[in-house]
Amino acid sequence: MRTQIAAANWKMNLTLQQGQDLLSNILSKSTSVREGHAVIFAVPAPYLQAAKEIVGDRQNVYISAQNIYSKVSGAYTGELSVEMIKSVGVYHSLIGHSERRDYFGESNQFLAEKVDIALANDVTPIFCLGESLEIRESGKQNEFVATQLEESLFHLSADQITKVIIAYEPIWAIGTGKTASSEQAEEIQKFLREHLASKYGQAISDQISILYGGSVKPGNAKELFSQPDIDGGLVGGASLVADDFVAIIDALN
Ligand code: PEP
Repeated sequence: MRTQIAAANWKMNLTLQQGQDLLSNILSKSTSVREGHAVIFAVPAPYLQAAKEIVGDRQNVYISAQNIYSKVSGAYTGELSVEMIKSVGVYHSLIGHSERRDYFGESNQFLAEKVDIALANDVTPIFCLGESLEIRESGKQNEFVATQLEESLFHLSADQITKVIIAYEPIWAIGTGKTASSEQAEEIQKFLREHLASKYGQAISDQISILYGGSVKPGNAKELFSQPDIDGGLVGGASLVADDFVAIIDALN
């Protein structure tokens, strides 16, 4: 059984106080996260330490960075390193969110370097991929996500790839209110798993959690998460509303 994951992406939202209140509120309503489940909060960099303190020693609840740089330290003004996040007890980071790819020009090759630095430092990458509307309409979405997988992850060993969480996020469904139907999401996530199996074998591929992201809400989470190749969600907008995110956690299989 793969780990079923509800991951929140707060993006560039909330003040420290608002973030602390939101996190405390969610954790007071979702008091225990059961074995086989994980709840992850990708919070803005200045709040990592405070968020980690709120989580304390709760089991299966993790704080994540939203981004890391591809170097451990040095003259990279404004960047955030794996060493920095680890020094405040954080061992997860989103890598390759479509907003990083689109607005900051992050390429598959550059993201491969970030994945490497994360894994070399025991940080779990939550690696995001997904196609634009244009690609979806041209029917080339499978080829597109296959290339993203190949160029950023296929250099990893079998042992390393099992440490990566993958999040399929069709760009046309992020923050737009348009969710991929559960059939559309399952179809491409099944394809991703088959593609991973073609490289690493079915047993390895079957261990990798693949999340769906793109307008996940309390009303669609259960159906999405019940698909065989959808192992939970990466959630933007709905993760900013305590009751909505709690309902999404409750929808995990
Ligand atoms: C995201 O930011 O990764 C995301 C999926 O956002 P939303 O849930 O708002 O579509």
